Amino acid sequence: MSSPLLQVQGVDVSPDHYIDGRRVASATTFEVFRPIDQQLLGRVCEGEAEHVESAIQAARRAFGAWAALTAAQRQPFLDRFAEEIGKRADAFSVLESNDAGVLQSRMRHGVVPRSMLNLTWFARHALGLQDRPIETEQASHRVRHDPAGVVVIITPWNSPLLLSTWKLGPALAAGNTCILKPPEWAPLTCSLLADAAHAAGLPPGVFNVVQGAGASTGAKLVADPRIARVSFTGSVPTARLIAQAAGANLVPCSLELGGKSPFIVLADADLEGAAATGALMYRNAGQVCLAGTRFLVHEAVAERFVAALRAQVERLRVGDPREPDTEVGPIIHPRQVERVLGYVQRAVDGGARLLWGGSGHAFGAQYVQPTLLTNLKQDDEIVQNEVFGPVLTLQTFADDDEALQMANGTDYGLGGVCYGATEHAIAVAERVRTGFIWVNSFGIRDLEAPFGGIKRSGIGREGGDWSFEFFCDVKDVVVPRKPFKASFSQR
Ligand code: NAD
Repeated sequence: MSSPLLQVQGVDVSPDHYIDGRRVASATTFEVFRPIDQQLLGRVCEGEAEHVESAIQAARRAFGAWAALTAAQRQPFLDRFAEEIGKRADAFSVLESNDAGVLQSRMRHGVVPRSMLNLTWFARHALGLQDRPIETEQASHRVRHDPAGVVVIITPWNSPLLLSTWKLGPALAAGNTCILKPPEWAPLTCSLLADAAHAAGLPPGVFNVVQGAGASTGAKLVADPRIARVSFTGSVPTARLIAQAAGANLVPCSLELGGKSPFIVLADADLEGAAATGALMYRNAGQVCLAGTRFLVHEAVAERFVAALRAQVERLRVGDPREPDTEVGPIIHPRQVERVLGYVQRAVDGGARLLWGGSGHAFGAQYVQPTLLTNLKQDDEIVQNEVFGPVLTLQTFADDDEALQMANGTDYGLGGVCYGATEHAIAVAERVRTGFIWVNSFGIRDLEAPFGGIKRSGIGREGGDWSFEFFCDVKDVVVPRKPFKASFSQR
């Protein structure tokens, strides 16, 4: 039986799981709070062993028929899924803003259209996945990309809709069936996503949502030997647990993890442009994996860059993410506020100097002031660890080699930003050890391009063909050119 709907600022959303095309309630529930003011939004069903089991069984049952469709036959399902997201654009925007603190304006104009594209683009791109022939003297190879099976998708709270559809699009388009485990601090938009999938007519079991805590529900899903892939976005400690559990069954994982990316400002950079981009690092209250959180600035321009950045930061509108003008919203959870401020306090105690910010924000208990720290050493905790809040650091360098030493001097390697005269900036960017880096820009993401990190920032790439390489089993069907003669001396 399904539970009564929750009402969140006029939007109805189910607190239940979505398994085998139906809403399924569970006796155990957990509370979901609004980040802005910690108001209780409702209680949501917690996935127990029986829900994990029925989701895996449903996804396995659905796999045969879904995988047997051609990419062209699956495409209309994904197009309709995207359309149903579009019909709910306002609801998704209101809900994720309440549930995760994401700016409502960004949801409406950025996240929702992009989430739709995550489905339609990969559905179209999958049309090119048909046999890829390789012709040699000996044989004709038909290299196939077959769907792998049941895919478990686990996403974090900082952008649940976007990150879920980024994985669902290619996984479903390639012919897999999916079980999504949404973040427990912000599960509601993934529940609405199940409504959209249902309205789009996705066959039962093709897409399932099982809610619950990572350590219980998530851990059960990733440890099950019947699953074929785990696609995870989240933190490094969780990734280690997931890789261990999936590794025990030799189940491949794609791990998109945290970052501590450099934002390099060379002496020949456009300082105003760099500062305007620099202020964007406070977006989503700094809860963005790919932000360039470490400013590395040439000593000759550091003073001017800081002045330009300060002017930008003073103009930032911190406030309620549901208001259209707000640029910086809340931190997801009181525990996270404490963690962020703890990092700042320890840095200051260790000799760091605050250029601005450093404490809670007057707007509310869930807010931290945009903060910039300087006077740091490379091995300081605040330089090495991901804070995941509106806290940035600034170090200066004398030449490119020193900039690169600092840029490459952490265990992370997700993204990066490099501002400077174009050829100079490209040359420096090419020497940064990272998964991707933006030259004189930030945040350009094309679905064709690979996305992912190196070192502690992750394993594997998703995006474009890379998504299909991960979500498919590659198989070579070898057909000899001449009649085959069996021989023990054949090489
Ligand atoms: P987290 O690792 O705590 O949780 C992420 C997800 O994993 C949640 O759904 C959680 O329930 C689940 N989980 C936790 N323990 C689990 C277990 N043992 N087994 C299975 N699932 C488990 O991360 P978070 O705090 O929600 O998100 C913030 C982190 O995500 C940051 O480190 C950030 O950099 C990273 N992130 C990375 C990217 C990227 O694309 N590289 C994007 C966004 C966020």
